[in-house]
Amino acid sequence: MERKMSFLLETKVFNPLFFSLEETLYHSENGYIGVRASFEEGYAETTNSLPGTYLSAFHDTYPISHPEKLHGFPEIGERILNITDVQSVRVRVDGQQFQLTDSSIEQYRRFLDMREGLSGRDVIWKTGLGKLLEVRARRLASLSHPEIFTLEYRLSSQQAMEVEIEAGILENVNNLFDSSDPRTPSTPFHELEIVSSKVEDDVITISSRTKTTGDSLAIRVEQHLKINGIPLVPGSHNKRNAYLSWKTRINRGVTICLEKIAFFSDSLRHPNCEKKLQFLSEELADSSFETFRAEQEDHLVKFWDSADIQIEGDELSQRGLRFNIFNLYQCAPRVSNASIPAKGLSGEGYEGHYFWDAEIYMLPFFVYTQPQLAKNLLLFRYFTLNHARTHARKMGHSKGAAYPWRTITGRECSSHYPTGSAQYHINADIAYAIWRYWEASNDIDFIVRYGAELLFETARIWLEIGNFTKNDFHINTVTGPDEYTCLVNDNYYTNAMARKNLETAANVCTLMEATHRPALEKLKDSIGLEESEVSSWQKAAKLMTLPYDRELDINPQDESFLRKPKWKPGGENRGHPYLLEYHPLTLSRFQICKQADTVLAYVLLDTGESDSTIRNSYEYYEKITTHDSSLSGVAFSILASKLGDSEKAYKYFRELVVLDLENTHGNTRHGIHAANMGGSWMAAVWGFGGFLPKGPLPAFSPRLPDKWKSMVFSILYRNSLIEVEANRSSVNFSLRRGEPCEVELYGEILLLKNELRCPVPPQTNPQ
Ligand code: BGC
Repeated sequence: MERKMSFLLETKVFNPLFFSLEETLYHSENGYIGVRASFEEGYAETTNSLPGTYLSAFHDTYPISHPEKLHGFPEIGERILNITDVQSVRVRVDGQQFQLTDSSIEQYRRFLDMREGLSGRDVIWKTGLGKLLEVRARRLASLSHPEIFTLEYRLSSQQAMEVEIEAGILENVNNLFDSSDPRTPSTPFHELEIVSSKVEDDVITISSRTKTTGDSLAIRVEQHLKINGIPLVPGSHNKRNAYLSWKTRINRGVTICLEKIAFFSDSLRHPNCEKKLQFLSEELADSSFETFRAEQEDHLVKFWDSADIQIEGDELSQRGLRFNIFNLYQCAPRVSNASIPAKGLSGEGYEGHYFWDAEIYMLPFFVYTQPQLAKNLLLFRYFTLNHARTHARKMGHSKGAAYPWRTITGRECSSHYPTGSAQYHINADIAYAIWRYWEASNDIDFIVRYGAELLFETARIWLEIGNFTKNDFHINTVTGPDEYTCLVNDNYYTNAMARKNLETAANVCTLMEATHRPALEKLKDSIGLEESEVSSWQKAAKLMTLPYDRELDINPQDESFLRKPKWKPGGENRGHPYLLEYHPLTLSRFQICKQADTVLAYVLLDTGESDSTIRNSYEYYEKITTHDSSLSGVAFSILASKLGDSEKAYKYFRELVVLDLENTHGNTRHGIHAANMGGSWMAAVWGFGGFLPKGPLPAFSPRLPDKWKSMVFSILYRNSLIEVEANRSSVNFSLRRGEPCEVELYGEILLLKNELRCPVPPQTNPQ
């Protein structure tokens, strides 16, 4: 019972204060379409509802205004568009409008069923005449057909009544803005123009165009209404507003069922998007809401079978992890030209931009459970390589590619370079993601066709922004992940990750020389890569500076970090996040960190530091990190696990796993925190599961938190699906799919043919 319940997110509390938050939590998404869970009936008055429908990467641009514009500053911003709203269903009973905010509600429940990939509401409305009407709404964004969002809206009467229904499309939607929060856009945006709209029988089609980029959007909504299973023809069409209406008298016990199937297409994917919709609707002519629902359930059965994590003894962790895993999966791009925005397609925070969040915090989940989706994420970077090259030239670099800090199409959209373009580590983050994907999948074809070029072009940048001194290599004037400390020399994280980027690029070059020489020669020719560059990558990697302080036995975050005072401007504490309270220069002058920086480097890489340095650094940074970024706790949880402090690891993990469910950062209404969600998977599997890939060998050393009786998770490694069950006395492996393989457990190498039951040696109790 407990297991089944934790696939369900549910509330029976009807509170207008939670509208915008719940619109995020219960939203439907499939990596192409994202629809916030606003009420189909609309709202009686202005509420804090933030309705929104988004298509992956479908955006418009705007000029970025820099009153003091210097060379190379980005000039064009990109912003995801809130597009035409297809959810709308208006209901009148005996002349009275049904709207939850001013109706008498006898019963209310809303839910998200993560096993079925369906969200919905069950409501009993008592009308002004005292009659009872049951409303049952269900909706989903199809994971099997990315262009489809569908909903079913049922009304069942307990008395005779006259019902009028209007269903259609709401064109007049706006983008969100809030000038007091830098994490949301600060100006209004309404950039979609209707080109044509048509209502024919029970089908509405609408075409729009973005004002600046001229991209097209086509939507087709098929609406069918049945009374006790018998179709009813719409009575009137409201062409201007693209609405159909039905009016009927029903008796007690009658059910009205309205079904909407909405098809979306856009010119980023299909030059003739109207035609694409026509084709799709013919292809799916026999499909109904029920067909899509059943398909969705089948799809998710397969997904959960290989991606679920089961936890015994801790319902909160179980529920939170499933919610996070489900959201990650529904965010994954299933169309071209896309990655995962910081908020998925659940809201407009960060304007729908992609950051390093995707490669560092989300990609691991996909690499080890859904490699094809991981590859899609990496391909997005490959297909935007030219933008990164252009950006590099703008930044004054003669060679290589500099990936943008935030973007939709691939061009740099960050207007604040100290926390934007200066975060060069994004190059190394992408290279790291390629390396992890390659290590786990052995997909040499990917490396030859795409990965090598990405690795070489990203590696080149380090030689552009770094320099050799007598015995060392330094990287200057960059910002690491900690955005409260900007424009520093030798940021530990950046240098450690750049070193890995340089080494991987050089290794791939050597490998391809031996195995794919013609492809390598062709690539070298096309990007003008000289042999001497490859040797300078090796040299820079070897001589890379990783700051170390002997006295404290820690790795300082950067070369000047320890010279700064610890935080206490006037001893005041104005609350979190500090970025809303203090000028960036104030923050930069103190030892105060927004998020994990050096600590993250230890989690991602073996940087070669001693145990004592890692432990001391952990303790040092823990005291000065505010965790104002939702990404921060991930590294702190994983490293605490590795250091054997499962209590602390669990404390951070608990914060990660409920961050959106409990709205602990106070801004879930602007969208989910997708990186944090991926990070909670990492904290569970890398941290408590002790999973660490070592080349061909998946290695494990489970360390469960006290509360957990057992944990079961699966890893797909080099085509072998390995299920791991860790409990207090044993660690059990089953090979669910693929070839027998070797696994490492607490340092011992074992051959997994079928099943393995391994008692936990007393000195290595998994706790
Ligand atoms: C974090 C960045 C992150 C961005 C988007 C910021 O608050 O500091 O590291 O990429 O949010 O999630």
